[in-house]
Amino acid sequence: MGKIYVVGIGPGDEMFMTGLARQVLDKCDIIVGYKAYTDIVREYLPDKEYMESAMKQEIDRCRACVDLANDGKSVALICSGDAGIYGMASPLLETAQKMGFDDVEIIPGITAASSGAAVLGAPINHDFCVISLSDLLTPWELIEKRLRYAAKGDFSIVLYNPSSHKRADYLKKTCDIMLTEISPETVCGYVKNIGREGTEMNVCTLKELADKQVDMFTTVFIGNSNTKIINGKMVTPRGYENK
Ligand code: SAH
Repeated sequence: MGKIYVVGIGPGDEMFMTGLARQVLDKCDIIVGYKAYTDIVREYLPDKEYMESAMKQEIDRCRACVDLANDGKSVALICSGDAGIYGMASPLLETAQKMGFDDVEIIPGITAASSGAAVLGAPINHDFCVISLSDLLTPWELIEKRLRYAAKGDFSIVLYNPSSHKRADYLKKTCDIMLTEISPETVCGYVKNIGREGTEMNVCTLKELADKQVDMFTTVFIGNSNTKIINGKMVTPRGYENK
């Protein structure tokens, strides 16, 4: 019997991958994943066997992994960032259970909240929430409710999936909701292409963020009421300075 590893490969370049993830990719028989991610891994592991799939074929991809493992292969199902943060860990575990397969191990990776925060400074160095703006699988009403409560709770907020072709105005919609709860001067920031060529970062106010165009390779940060700018970096204090 084979085994399935669900591997978070980090935000992009190989150097952002954990040693354990790298070890698993080195020793597995086949690497399965969305083409954008297999393309990245292929650059440093060109001789591996790969199975690529298109976006929105997540469950088919999981079933294929179980079939391969039932054939005796050790399979690495890869996703960007962390496997358990908007990743393939839960769909794979659900599908494997349905198919009666249970030899699954989840290998963590550096999530965009963490790698993006490092680019900006220290925006989530206190309590924070992570919210995805994708309403593909979550109704917008629930997303809006979570945004409001996160704002009411004075959390720093990290937004994943802030935009797509169909959802070009979602960041604006989100900022408009936020502006009813928190100050327009709240410090915000965003990072594009974290850990890859073409990394770009920007720090601005919530009011300014409402008019920014970001793409799906961007992670957005909204500070809490104490977040400030220090030498161009976005910093959410822990509170030591006031002790
Ligand atoms: N499992 C991934 C998240 C997948 S959801 C993780 O843990 O990071 C996809 C969203 O993650 C993107 O829309 C974007 O908001 C964020 N993201 C993932 N990789 C990124 C990168 N290299 N640069 C910027 N944002 C990224």
